[in-house]
Amino acid sequence: MSFSPCNAGLSGPMSTAAGAIDNQREGSFAALGNVFLTRLPASPLPAPYVVGFSPDVAAMLGFDASLANAPGFAEFFSGNTTRDWPAASLPYAAVYSGHQFGVWAGQLGDGRALTLGEIEHDGQRFELQLKGAGRTPYSRMGDGRAVLRSSIREYLCSEAMHHLGIPTTRALCVTGSDQSVRREEMETAAVVTRVSPSFVRFGHFEHFYANDRVEALRALADHIIDRFYPACRAAEDPYLALLNECVLSTADLIAQWQAVGFCHGVMNTDNMSILGLTIDYGPFGFMDGFDANHICNHSDSQGRYAYRMQPQIGYWNLFCLAQGLLPLFGERYDDAERSERAVKDAQRVLEGFKGRFAPALEARMRAKLGLETQREGDDALANKLFEIMHANRADFTLTFRHLSKVSKHDASGDTQVRDLFLDRAAFDAWANDYRARLSHETRADAARAEAMNRVNPKYVLRNHLAETAIRMAKDKDFSEVERLAAVLRRPFDEQPEHEAYAGLPPDWATSLEVSCSS
Ligand code: AMP
Ligand code: MG
Repeated sequence: MSFSPCNAGLSGPMSTAAGAIDNQREGSFAALGNVFLTRLPASPLPAPYVVGFSPDVAAMLGFDASLANAPGFAEFFSGNTTRDWPAASLPYAAVYSGHQFGVWAGQLGDGRALTLGEIEHDGQRFELQLKGAGRTPYSRMGDGRAVLRSSIREYLCSEAMHHLGIPTTRALCVTGSDQSVRREEMETAAVVTRVSPSFVRFGHFEHFYANDRVEALRALADHIIDRFYPACRAAEDPYLALLNECVLSTADLIAQWQAVGFCHGVMNTDNMSILGLTIDYGPFGFMDGFDANHICNHSDSQGRYAYRMQPQIGYWNLFCLAQGLLPLFGERYDDAERSERAVKDAQRVLEGFKGRFAPALEARMRAKLGLETQREGDDALANKLFEIMHANRADFTLTFRHLSKVSKHDASGDTQVRDLFLDRAAFDAWANDYRARLSHETRADAARAEAMNRVNPKYVLRNHLAETAIRMAKDKDFSEVERLAAVLRRPFDEQPEHEAYAGLPPDWATSLEVSCSS
């Protein structure tokens, strides 16, 4: 089925963009039907303006980079034109449930996000979603809005993660408005246009399981398998194979977070992507000084989502997903034994998390340390480094970046990284072990440094960098949002003109707190 109802009232490049959006197409999430979603227009955002725009994401969707300047752009990506769309092709909010902070939260859903539909480009299909587009039937007590501060953070971070090579939802743009929104203080409203092949979360499966809607559960699982994991069809138990894919992609994702010092902050099961993408950027943070117990979310008083907890929380969340899929497992078994055998199968698949996560992180750590070969003691060497980084609160990003300057011959290149450790003797002892280990590598210092600089970023979205861009944006100067986005697009490159973006946080930033409120 092909139609393009979404361009009502638009002309020029915007109508092409709008016309490319399809939200009824066969095989799409939207085509699953009303059990899964509610169609409704966005709540208009008064006098919207463009705050940020990613030319990369535009190109990925087949849009021209000039799109952001097209008349009607801000109106369209604030959702304002959706009130003119025909009922059958309105955007939609999806229903899901989930476990929040370890407790079953019941029904949640897109309380402030509306999916416009899909765009196909270069053989790939992407869903476009407006986050902050107004209340939906799943808003509960919320106002359906997102604030400028959190929208800029999501835009910058999702793009930064992509350029770090970490799976993530993307962001096409942020639009803002002077409309007031009440949080801890009065702020203004904004909308982020998020882009992803799918926004389905673990919580979607938990929802249909909890409501005993096995046929809907099956339809959803079939949709995900057909679209994203078609090889699962050939497995003895396709749904178990789907769980296995989720176990593997989640383990890989969290290994990547750990390797760059990224804390998600709210790893509730409704914030876990079925595709193993980083999703729902809220009180996330890249660590400055390394603290294994770092809690980036000021509202997480128990530290459930502390940095060091992320792997086991990922594993815990996969248990919730497995439980949600349980009614679909073991269809090939006789009735009498089915449920017991299905549970055993699921447990076996879940066990695969450990077998995937540890080697994935080890491989990343070896690359970060510039080790081409694998030797006994490599783990201990990496762990010891984390131990002294933790004890010294050494800057996570700079420690690894400067490590590439260490020579395998002598201590002449140690200075920059050594200076990050107050306890110089502890660093020197570790550096001696490191040099001893490097002596078993054939690669020359320069080649190793180059390889290390391709895995240890120089530029990450430190909290204070985002904060500076946000403060300027609140004064209607959006230039820093774009500058910062451009720097973060090349996180592994030396950018001498942007050296300041790689530095330690300034004193004023130590008091920055990030809460759940967004
Ligand atoms: P989050 O912690 O941001 O992932 O949100 C958890 C749940 O609360 C989801 O169902 C969101 O859609 C919903 N939610 C968060 N903020 C708002 C808001 N301002 N208005 C309505 N719903 C919201
Ligand atoms: Mg969420």
